[in-house]
Amino acid sequence: MAAAGAGGAVVTGGARGIGLEICRVLVAAGHTVILADTDVEAAHASAAELSRAGPGRAVGVRCDVVDEHEVEAAAALAVAEGGSLQVWVNNAGITRDMTMRRMTLADFRAVLDVHLVGAWLGTRAGAAHMREQGSGSIINISSISGKVGNIGQTNYSAAKAGLVGLTKAAAKELAHVGVRVNAVQPGLIDTDMVRAMRPDIVEARIKDIPLGRIGDASEIASVVGFLAGPESSYMTGTVLEVTGGRHM
Ligand code: NDP
Repeated sequence: MAAAGAGGAVVTGGARGIGLEICRVLVAAGHTVILADTDVEAAHASAAELSRAGPGRAVGVRCDVVDEHEVEAAAALAVAEGGSLQVWVNNAGITRDMTMRRMTLADFRAVLDVHLVGAWLGTRAGAAHMREQGSGSIINISSISGKVGNIGQTNYSAAKAGLVGLTKAAAKELAHVGVRVNAVQPGLIDTDMVRAMRPDIVEARIKDIPLGRIGDASEIASVVGFLAGPESSYMTGTVLEVTGGRHM
């Protein structure tokens, strides 16, 4: 794990859920972490809490990942506050779950935009600084839905599978400048996103998990921390499944 004064990091959707736990791990590793989120009040509140814990610190900022300028501003802020940009995590996400009989083109595009276009903008903005430094780690939060596909998630599964392609292409483009790009595919994790699902669907999915329980956001964050730090220095273009064994 990196030491105090470990440089800047950006986590999109960092105000709550998995993103917040990722920020917690990165602050604990000494990074200055930008919580880039559409919910700016939650981002400020979470940043204040994380800064109190240290040894790194956190700064909340409004950033819609589909807005090119806000994404680039988040990258610049990380450099200004942290002295460099060492870690970028594309985590922001939304769902618009429904079968294709009811899903509109707008529902499909909204999910593709946030997960895929947003991650591309983040990867591009982060890489622009990292290639100058000759170092950096970009981590994309995909989903096991991108590996297996889920009923009612033609938009989400397509976006999350697309993130795997983005990860591998970017990893190949950036390896020679010392920048690594990896992805994580979480399974069912206890956050607001899952709490919004129908309880019977959640129960059915838990029955399908070999470890027999829903995952905690901290169990994704620890893997992201590993990919962010020097322990994973020989890994790029990989996709790590963190699912309790589901869909292995
Ligand atoms: P949450 O819904 O709990 O948190 C998502 C965060 O992203 C919120 O703070 C939200 O802000 C923010 N956000 C949404 N849209 C944007 C945007 N356009 N720009 C910036 N921030 C935005 O989700 P999770 O923590 O559960 O999910 C985090 C990631 O993990 C997502 O990519 C998700 O797809 C993925 N994942 C989650 C799984 C799970 O079981 N929970 C499983 C597999 C993958 P706001 O409050 O304003 O909407």
